[in-house]
Amino acid sequence: MNEFDYSIFWEETIKQLREEKEISDQEYNMYFQSLHYIESTRDKIKLSIPSRFIQSQLKQRYTSIIESRLFEISGIELTLDFEIENRTKDQDKKTESVIQREPETPQVYEPHPQLREDYTFENFVIGNNNSFAANASKAIAQNPGSKYNPCLIYGGVGLGKTHLMQSIGNTIHQEKPEMKIVYIPAETFINDFIESINTKKQTNFKNKYRTADILLIDDIHDLQDKKGTQEELFHTFNALYDANKQMVFTCDRPPSELKNFADRLKNRFVRGLNVDLHPPNYETRYAILRKKLEDRNVSISDDILELISQNINTNIRDLEAALTSIVAYAELVQKEITPEIAKQQLKQFFSSPIQTNITIDKIQKQVSEYFNVTLSDLKGKKRTKQITFPRQIAMYIIREITDFSTTEIGLEFGGRDHTTVMHSCQRIEDRIKTDSTIEPTVQELIRSIKET
Ligand code: ADP
Ligand code: MG
Repeated sequence: MNEFDYSIFWEETIKQLREEKEISDQEYNMYFQSLHYIESTRDKIKLSIPSRFIQSQLKQRYTSIIESRLFEISGIELTLDFEIENRTKDQDKKTESVIQREPETPQVYEPHPQLREDYTFENFVIGNNNSFAANASKAIAQNPGSKYNPCLIYGGVGLGKTHLMQSIGNTIHQEKPEMKIVYIPAETFINDFIESINTKKQTNFKNKYRTADILLIDDIHDLQDKKGTQEELFHTFNALYDANKQMVFTCDRPPSELKNFADRLKNRFVRGLNVDLHPPNYETRYAILRKKLEDRNVSISDDILELISQNINTNIRDLEAALTSIVAYAELVQKEITPEIAKQQLKQFFSSPIQTNITIDKIQKQVSEYFNVTLSDLKGKKRTKQITFPRQIAMYIIREITDFSTTEIGLEFGGRDHTTVMHSCQRIEDRIKTDSTIEPTVQELIRSIKET
């Protein structure tokens, strides 16, 4: 027998990683079941492996975590060494042919386990609202870790942050399969971190993130109030940043508006490139609907697409939900959908979401506080600039997030006529188009109204 026999370390490592779900059952069946321990030397563990394909998968995905775990368990720096199985002729012909085909399959694109396959640049419609963010994301995918590091993509819900972030991941995964890409929603990052403390597995946690070539963390606003996790991310950030590893983050607001968030971490997020996403205009909404329809084997007339694009201007998630609903209906009734049927069918999507707990009064109070004007001035007759702007904003927000009619709103502003309310809302809409500071103000106010 060889002087070195590290088989027990190997077995224990795989056992632990399976228990901790670092290696899922599916991954185990795919890659590990067919591995066999052969022998050890002073600093190597030699394994037999059925194909070069499996070898390349293992090397890309698992060797670093296996080797670091081996070190934790054994205290010896062991590396893995693979030997492709030498099949002899007397083996079953069937296995033979399977084995032979495998080395030729590396071209077949293996999906990344954490990324949605349909979140690609190809499926992402570029419009007025997202072209800068989309082009920056493409540049990052082509040259990760170079110019735009880190990159922060921010914007409201359903505007395509996750889609863009995962498109970066998918492109890199396809073009540079050797890179280790870690995609994670911030919420999972928090849970992983807490669990690593509870189970005293901080080293695993660190290894998982600090060995990434590409780190994609989605929805970092979820880290608000989470001091410990922020601290951990701060160190992860520094380690990856120093090693020129690409990081991309998404957030539902500009970082300056994050609450209970360590300044030093905030500063790091904004260090590289910041891009924001806006709600799409009519043309883009229409183009997105067309694109979403491409893969579905059902015909929805242009009239209907126009109808949906005209009526839903919040975000792309709502747009898709309406389309899905109408497609499902068309499939069910098996007949051409007329605009009348569509209107009926989409009623719930077209009316603005009812926020029962949000009153006009509440919005007025928040807005007057924000602009530091009195409530009675806000509702009153004064027409100085300091008052009219907050008043218009308040009306606009009420229209956006509640179901009150313009008549009802007018009544709450000193008995104004509904046309005045409409005019005020229009004023804000126009100004949003020309002044990029207004939309963020509105969004910030809406968030704080919803939070209280
Ligand atoms: P967010 O992460 O900003 O909340 P998502 O990335 O989840 O938004 O996008 C919501 C939905 O809208 C997804 O199904 C996504 O594919 C789709 N979507 C968003 N932007 C576009 C776009 N420009 N083209 C095509 N689909 C889009
Ligand atoms: Mg998202």
